[in-house]
Amino acid sequence: MAQSNGTEIRTFGDPVLKSAAAEVTNIDGKLVTLTEMMFKVMYEAPGLGLAGPQIGVQKQIFVYDVDDEGPHVLLNPVIVESSGEWVYDEGCLSIPGLYVEILRPKNVLVRGLSLDGNTVEIEADELLARLFQHEIDHLNGVLMFDRMLPDQRKNALAEYRLLEQKPQSSEPIHLRLT
Ligand SMILES: [Zn+2]
Repeated sequence: MAQSNGTEIRTFGDPVLKSAAAEVTNIDGKLVTLTEMMFKVMYEAPGLGLAGPQIGVQKQIFVYDVDDEGPHVLLNPVIVESSGEWVYDEGCLSIPGLYVEILRPKNVLVRGLSLDGNTVEIEADELLARLFQHEIDHLNGVLMFDRMLPDQRKNALAEYRLLEQKPQSSEPIHLRLT
């Protein structure tokens, strides 16, 4: 259902998704309220993660909840180390209905700030590592399409154009890595 309070999810083609978000310098009540709104949007979608730019907020912030471990927030996150390779059928709330197998590092070490302002380092692999890479990309104006191989991107863009013309309830499209 469409939301009227400015918290609708921005989709592919919206320029806000292509620009880099600004560092969070002030953790205050407004930021806490923002995270609450982000969780609401993410759970309603539903999705595993949501980055600020996806609701038009150009701040380096994302929220996530993977494997029902509960809600988490990360501010100003960076990938410190990455290793390995892992193929995952990746989706994005801003590219609804399209899932594409993308090869990315399997393990990452991410550093950022928690909502209480403390520096945190999180080691992640597989799904959580993928989520971190995907959400941090959003904060840098990078989308799934930018992580695809050239032929795969061409194919995925064509499929997405078709999807956009169909009703939202259409079957999702899954593209394999060939
Ligand atoms: Zn996304």
